[in-house]
Amino acid sequence: VTRVRALSIHAGYRCRSTGVCCSSGWPIPVEPRAEAGLRAALRSGAVRPASAGESLRPAAGLPHGARVVLGQDVAGRCVFLEPTRRCAVHRRLGEDALPSACRHFPRLATLTPLGVSVTLSHYCPTAADMLFRDDVALALVEDPPAFPASWPWEGLDARDALPPLLRPGVLMDWPSLERWERFCVSVLGEGDLTRSRRCA
Ligand code: SF4
Repeated sequence: VTRVRALSIHAGYRCRSTGVCCSSGWPIPVEPRAEAGLRAALRSGAVRPASAGESLRPAAGLPHGARVVLGQDVAGRCVFLEPTRRCAVHRRLGEDALPSACRHFPRLATLTPLGVSVTLSHYCPTAADMLFRDDVALALVEDPPAFPASWPWEGLDARDALPPLLRPGVLMDWPSLERWERFCVSVLGEGDLTRSRRCA
């Protein structure tokens, strides 16, 4: 990865442990490497689930070779979500031990020849709070500390794809797409646009 691009309003993102994503009942695939690490840590007691029930539940049709999803309680809370809304896996084993979805969310990445474009899902309340920040001008920024280029980014991989169409039958090129994106962001960042007009 050569560079990461993101919106200035997202550039300072840090998880504030709202726990919303970890208690939404989503089936979260656990890739084979993460599964092996979790099983070993559960056996040794290095990590303990925070609630009763199966820690890893078999499931079919998962991506990336995953065979299990994270266990949940009846309310849809991940069994590793502690009462303090911290993740037991992250706290005890570190970020690398997490399934890919846990490591990335709310970050959503697109890999293109321009680099990695990162945005945030505003399902996350912390990310939603950043959406209408007025302490920073809306702009595209490169390599913000919150989204390091060394992160093992996964997401929509468009590195070998054609750029979008400028009009039917005519492709943009990637540098033109970047200039167009910067123009759109600058228009959205104009001071006299109301929040509702920006959203529209
Ligand atoms: S493993 Fe941790 S980050 Fe992933 S859903 Fe469970 S509590 Fe959340």
